[in-house]
Order: sequence, then C-alpha cells, then structure tokens
Amino acid sequence: MTGLICQGCGATIQTTAPDQPGYAPESSLKREDMVCQRCFRLKHYNEVQDVSIHDDEFLNMLHEIGRKKALIVKIVDIFDFNGSFIPGLPRFTGKNPIVLVGNKVDLLPKSTNYNKVKQWLRKSAKDLGLKVEDIYLVSAKKGIGMKQAAVKINELRNGQDVYVVGCTNVGKSTFMNYLIEQTTGEKEAITTSYFPGTTLGFIDIPLDDGKSMYDTPGIIHHHQMAHYISKSDLKVITPKKEIKPRVYQLFEEQTLYFGGLARLDYEKGGKHSFVCYFSNELMIHRTKLENADRLYAEHLGDLLTPPGEATMEQLPPLKPHTFQIKDNKTDIVFSGLGWVTVTEGNATVTAYLPEGVRVGLRPSLI
Ligand code: GDP
Repeated sequence: MTGLICQGCGATIQTTAPDQPGYAPESSLKREDMVCQRCFRLKHYNEVQDVSIHDDEFLNMLHEIGRKKALIVKIVDIFDFNGSFIPGLPRFTGKNPIVLVGNKVDLLPKSTNYNKVKQWLRKSAKDLGLKVEDIYLVSAKKGIGMKQAAVKINELRNGQDVYVVGCTNVGKSTFMNYLIEQTTGEKEAITTSYFPGTTLGFIDIPLDDGKSMYDTPGIIHHHQMAHYISKSDLKVITPKKEIKPRVYQLFEEQTLYFGGLARLDYEKGGKHSFVCYFSNELMIHRTKLENADRLYAEHLGDLLTPPGEATMEQLPPLKPHTFQIKDNKTDIVFSGLGWVTVTEGNATVTAYLPEGVRVGLRPSLI
C-alpha cells in the first residue's frame, strides 16, 4: 500500500495488481496529482480500461449505486447470459430504472431473430428478479445498434447520472470507449473527476448537462466459464466472427463432445438433427455413447481440446444435467460456450459442463 489516493476516481493507489482498482506503475508515484492508470488512460487517450473487483467490494459498490438517483445500464454478453448476470443486482438497485444491453450481437448468425433474443433476455432477467425498462442489442466492437442505444439511454436517464455495470469480459470497456469517442467528437481529453465518498474506483465521464456517466469496476463472477480456463483456451472458445452453425444427424445413444469442455448425450427420441452454435474454432467430436467415457479418459487434452494443459489442472469435473425436451426447436444453452438447437421435440438428452457453469433450455433463437 502506498497511502496515496487517486485524484481521479478516489481508489487507493497500489502498484502490484494491474487489473485491480487504483493500480499505478511504481515509476509514476512521484507525480503530483497522482492518478491511477485507468484514470490516466481516460484522461490522455480517452479510453477506459477494465479493472475487476470481488464479491464483498461488489456489494459495497451496489449499495453505493442504490443510494443515488440514477439510470443503471447493465451490460451482458449474449453468449453468456447466466455467467454475466450480476447476482444480487435486483436487491440493491433501489427504485432506479435499469436498461439491459446485450452485447456481441455481431457473433450471432444472420438468420437470428432479434426479437426472440430480446424476449429471451427479458424473460431471463425477470426470472432472476430484475425488471428492466428496456433492452438493446448491440455490438460495441462493430458499432451495431450503438447509436440507438446511446440516444435511448440519454432519454431514459431523464437528466440523471448513469452507472454502467457488468461482469468482466462482457465488453463494458469497449462499450464505454465507443460512447466516449462519440461524445468527445474530436477526441479532446475528458477530465476524470474524483467521486467523493467512495474508494471503489468509479470513474466519472462528464455528460453535457453537468451530470455524469460512471464506469464501475467489472465484477468477477465465478460461474463464468472464462474463470476456469486459460487465456489461450479462452481464445479458442470465444467466437471472433459470425458463428457458422454445424449440423449433426444423431441416432439415439450418440454423444457430441465440444472440445473436452462440454458434452451432449442424445439418449432417446429416434433420429434427430442437432444444430450446434459454437466458436468456429472449437472442435466438435461425435462418438457412440458407450465409448464416450473412455474417449474422455484417454483423450482429454489431445483429441478433445481445449482444455489445454494449463486448464486441465484447474478444470472442475464435468457435471451431468438431464433434460426431457418436449417442444420442437429448443436450445440447450451451455453458458459461455454456445448452444445446440434440438429441432424436434420428444428427446431425452444429458448435457455436461464443468461443475459451477450453468446449462439451461430456451425456445430456439433461430
Ligand atoms: P470488459 O472486461 O467488460 O471491459 O470487456 P472488454 O471491453 O475488455 O471486452 C472483452 C472481450 O470481448 C474483448 O476481447 C473484446 O474485444 C470483446 N468484445 C467486446 N465487445 C464486443 C462485441 O461487440 N463483439 C465481439 N465479437 N467482441 C466484443
């Protein structure tokens, strides 16, 4: 601990953890008007950088936001709704309105029905106790839907401040940076101003009516697949381009492996087609159910990869979840990885994911 406070966001300055609030390199400590690296980047390059916090700090942060009158913008990754949903958010937001932004829409296949995606997001939020004012689908990276979302956010905030919240890796920084670039036009420097009464490292981006948009630290959520796997494996499972569906006609008692990170056993229901939506780089391997366990025991990490070596050391065992699928066109969603559409109903399947990562069903998006 340095005993210094960032003059931008109020976080306590530290020199050891670049991804935590208040980080500044040792060499910068002598400066007057000391600011952390995140505020420094905003001030000089008009860019925010993500930092993350853990559960207890996160509860403090929510309390802080709950006490203000503000619009809350909650960003989720549409590939990982469960993994990117902040538990406890509904309890702490008070009466503040919430706008849900589903990011990374550029990765969905062209044939996706956006209205269905919105309906599914609304229902999933409601099931978790969160009432949302509105939902926007965007790609912060490609700029898709961003103008419309920005205009609407400005309307809905109704002269109040805005807090942007999200788990790590959902694209919150990309989203903020897009808005910063839009609002500053000629990229003139924005000043970060100290946010009194907190050491949580909210950074303040002034809006033109004297109000502010606050960037908050990203929350580490332990149900995210991203926390169980290495950086290089994360690269393989994270789609970079529009996903190309891969179709498998399966007979009963056949199994699909998605790398070695997830597995789907088709148990009962006659010949069915299964449409798989995953990163184009993730290998899918088909086998007979009776051989599936042996294949996993003998080939995890080579034929069934990722996981690579680094991930295998920390990956929890695969846990089975059995579903009786009644309706035609149902998606089995593997949080943080992708989904499989079962085109006809009356099927019994067992889906496996590392323990702690969620799997669920929804009406097909496509
Ligand atoms: P943060 O941790 O929430 O601040 O997330 P970042 O902004 O650092 O983004 C996390 C990852 O998601 C990065 O690899 C981004 O390039 C990627 N990303 C962010 N927005 C989008 C998007 O709209 N589409 C796609 N395909 N990737 C995105």
